[in-house]
Amino acid sequence: MSTLTLKDARAPFALLSEQNAALFSELATPCYVIDERALIRNCDILASLAKNTGAKILLAQKAFSNYDFYPLLSNYLAGTEASGLYEARLGAEQMKGKETHVFCAAYGEKEFDEILKYADHIVFNSPAELKRFGPAAKSAKKSVGLRINPECSTQKSAHAIYDPCAVGSRLGVTLKNWREQMSESEVRLLDGLHFHTLCEQDSIDLEITLRAVEEKFGFVLSDMKWLNMGGGHHITRPGYDIKRLENCITRVKERYNAEVYLEPGEAVALNAGYLLSRVRDIVKNGGYDTAILDTSAACHMPDVLEMPYTPPLYGACEEKPAFVYRLAGPTCLAGDVIGTYGFDRELRRDSLLIFGDMAIYTTCKNNTFNGMPLPDIWRLGENGALFRLTSFSYEDFKSRLGRRDTI
Ligand SMILES: *Cc1c(COP(=O)(O)O)cnc(C)c1O
Repeated sequence: MSTLTLKDARAPFALLSEQNAALFSELATPCYVIDERALIRNCDILASLAKNTGAKILLAQKAFSNYDFYPLLSNYLAGTEASGLYEARLGAEQMKGKETHVFCAAYGEKEFDEILKYADHIVFNSPAELKRFGPAAKSAKKSVGLRINPECSTQKSAHAIYDPCAVGSRLGVTLKNWREQMSESEVRLLDGLHFHTLCEQDSIDLEITLRAVEEKFGFVLSDMKWLNMGGGHHITRPGYDIKRLENCITRVKERYNAEVYLEPGEAVALNAGYLLSRVRDIVKNGGYDTAILDTSAACHMPDVLEMPYTPPLYGACEEKPAFVYRLAGPTCLAGDVIGTYGFDRELRRDSLLIFGDMAIYTTCKNNTFNGMPLPDIWRLGENGALFRLTSFSYEDFKSRLGRRDTI
């Protein structure tokens, strides 16, 4: 359970008034609600960081790509970061007039030609990719970068699948590979370097990583126009040490006379969304009371199982609860369990539950396993009004599987 308290303005439910919660009871579940005020709260922090340091901050779209909010975000951010063609196109089309950056572990030939239409910065993952696509990117006047791997693990082993510095990682060029595979003509193609090694981490870990980057790749940094420090900076989390981050950025800018980019995903939309669900049934077995909901961890909050973590729940009591329930999904997966929570009231059929921090890695990562419907997405405006952004149906499930009666 979350250790955050409601007193902190950045906690998952800090901006959720009784009024909002009452409005939510009108909505059909399951559905996501994205909270505009919470996005603005995060963006204010990011924009002040950019102002204090001159760093450029991009939205990593893989965490949050609800483009209805891009015009709002573009008031605060320098642009978007993409993991491939579709995200690059979405960023270029929906955050107009801002920068579009792309990194992909390996580009496809056809895909790459199209990426040239949308991206301003293109980052390659290996000397071979740079050799293959770099010249075309250069002649299309793109800013060209290479991802490096400082081989400096700062993540707890629990998150090994998110550690690009793990032994044998395919992500980024190690110093050894650079020495063996980078000729002078390839180095000349480069405008910048990129590293991404963090996940939900504080700036002390960036400082440690930056030291490794400078030790290993310092010899080339002065020749670069920019250094992109990737994502995984938990900047908008209560308690994050922003001063140390600012010092890291300022030092790089001064020492190497380089532009600094950050591309957080989570930090942009942290604690800025809710997933609403209702109880369908209660099953008692083996000492557990399990409430089966109309939402699924596997389908609608996949990181709960993948990370794994237990999401915050509105109104759950942390101390001496009168009732304890395990909350679980309706799918066939035995492990489709969200977590165990305490309550001061008994849950019944149709009880409304509000999960917090549900704007990131959800709406752009969910799936229709078991034929589960996709939850609709609502926008909770700054003025407290609700506006529906999507309307999913059986057709969204069916159209991904075939087109027998549509062609
Ligand atoms: C995942 C990723 C990000 C964003 O990471 P967050 O943890 O959401 O901040 C940024 N850049 C790259 C290259 C990534 O792979």
